[in-house]
Amino acid sequence: MKSMLKTDKEMLESLLKKANISVIEGLLLKEGEKLEGLRLKSLDYGKYVSPERLRDLATEVKFYVDDFLGSHGISFPILYQEGETFGPEATFPFKPGSIVYEFFGNQCYMDKNTIILVKERMSSVPGSIAHEYAHHVQGIMLGKDFVKANDCFIEGHSRGVERYIADVFSSKESDETFMYDITDSNFFELKGVYIYLCEKYGLKQHPLVSKIMGSNEDMEWDYQQKNGKPSPYAIGNTFLYMKELLHGKGIYGEALGKAKPL
Ligand SMILES: [Zn+2]
Repeated sequence: MKSMLKTDKEMLESLLKKANISVIEGLLLKEGEKLEGLRLKSLDYGKYVSPERLRDLATEVKFYVDDFLGSHGISFPILYQEGETFGPEATFPFKPGSIVYEFFGNQCYMDKNTIILVKERMSSVPGSIAHEYAHHVQGIMLGKDFVKANDCFIEGHSRGVERYIADVFSSKESDETFMYDITDSNFFELKGVYIYLCEKYGLKQHPLVSKIMGSNEDMEWDYQQKNGKPSPYAIGNTFLYMKELLHGKGIYGEALGKAKPL
């Protein structure tokens, strides 16, 4: 198997081809069907998680991610949740004693050995921890220069780890709510690339595609309007999800192992 470690340039060249449209359409319709299926059931997405529970979950998620990526031996970053007060270990970008407010909006955040998570329901938490911890691992195993220059790879890679952990929790807890966030992201990110490609090559979209809406779709359209291409999340997730289905989930660990310093 060829290494899946790709620069953004390589990923864009390989993904944004007419020949990929039918594969992406098939995958997109499948994810849309899954998303609609979850929405039709009145599922319980769980309670908001306390900081203590969050830290227990981080230990558990780290265990699974390290097994998945081969990243044993890396220590977990400092973890905060929105609403908590920064302790003396806080460095960037906040002073110790300040409170983590909601200003991150709907996002989680990872920088300088610190992960900050917004308050989320239980069903969202393992996937969010996995996504941000994967960024931490990428920084160590691929080097800061590669990570800084290749948003598409790192976001697609984190999505792959997030998808794996959502699947682990969904199976072990027999609870499909763990799959909701990642299915939603998969859907609107695939849709972002699909619609971009249909427009680029003048092809008609499948009629079902516009009938289903991803929760954060607007973010993708805003990005495309400003930048003239799909977002790094959409490109990276679509590219690596296609490769995952072709070669298996081993691609995520393999990509880190084959890293060459740039
Ligand atoms: Zn990310």
